[in-house]
Amino acid sequence: MDFKDYYKTLGVPKTATEKEIKQAYRKLARENHPDVNSGDKNAEKRFQEINEAYEVLSDADNRKKYDQLGSQWRNAGARRGPGPGAGGGVEFDFSDLFGGGGMGGGAESAGGFSSFFERFFGGGGGRQPRGGPQPQPQQEQPSSVDVEVSLAECYSGTTRQLEIASPQVCPQCRGAGVIGNGICPVCRGAGKQQGTRRLEVRIPAGVTQGSKVKAQGVTMVIQVKPDPDYEIKGRDVIRKTNVDLYGAVLGSEVNFRTPSGKEVSLKVPPESQNGRSFRLSGQGLPAAAGKPAGDLYVKLEVSLPTKLTAREKELFEELARLRA
Ligand SMILES: [Zn+2]
Repeated sequence: MDFKDYYKTLGVPKTATEKEIKQAYRKLARENHPDVNSGDKNAEKRFQEINEAYEVLSDADNRKKYDQLGSQWRNAGARRGPGPGAGGGVEFDFSDLFGGGGMGGGAESAGGFSSFFERFFGGGGGRQPRGGPQPQPQQEQPSSVDVEVSLAECYSGTTRQLEIASPQVCPQCRGAGVIGNGICPVCRGAGKQQGTRRLEVRIPAGVTQGSKVKAQGVTMVIQVKPDPDYEIKGRDVIRKTNVDLYGAVLGSEVNFRTPSGKEVSLKVPPESQNGRSFRLSGQGLPAAAGKPAGDLYVKLEVSLPTKLTAREKELFEELARLRA
């Protein structure tokens, strides 16, 4: 890929005004127009070159970029070779400076623009019409982050401090990319550098596994920390509670806290079977996103006595005889 001297192509000095560039372009375009030079391949090529030069120099932004590139191009060319420590030349990522334009191959592109143009001004194929909106370099990526929350936080809502990768205006050159006549050494001409943004985000009550919460341009995907005491099904929350044989047979009371911290006293009626479920209406995950609150299910797990004494065994044998 060759460096294109667009000023030379249009036959104007670097100091040429907008008007002078326009005049030079019109004159050359007329002279080299394919309609008046039919079959002349050289004229056709010149005509394309003239258009390309004008495309860049007639646009104030592009011209500024091009002028900047002009001096840098020579520095880049003077580098001895690749790799760190090779000469004192400043490493320079052109794609940063020009917003990641197509890094196209070496061949002339189908549109008649040179690979030089495509690389630095082509914007990956879809050129903006002149005067239209310029492609914005390195827009902030929409970020999505996994955020782990406890079940209790699903009930109460919570906040999180997040650090989001975010390009920042370069503090050295204040976004200009240049300092004096040179490329800014801090951002290497990009005008931005990678930074982080600290956000405090609110996660509302009622989120559950996989819920998406959008705040300040960030999408948080909720991951509920597994809790050995609870299982979540939709908005319902299931808890197992242990009761011994005598409590299940004779009736008892179990006390526990719901994930929201509420103290509950559950009456286990006599002769409750193992696995019996009790529903506490509305005590599941709180209402959110138009969905009503879930229920809390308490499931009995009856534990049987072990290491029976001789006397206990005797009594169980008596019970068994009564039931036979
Ligand atoms: Zn800078």
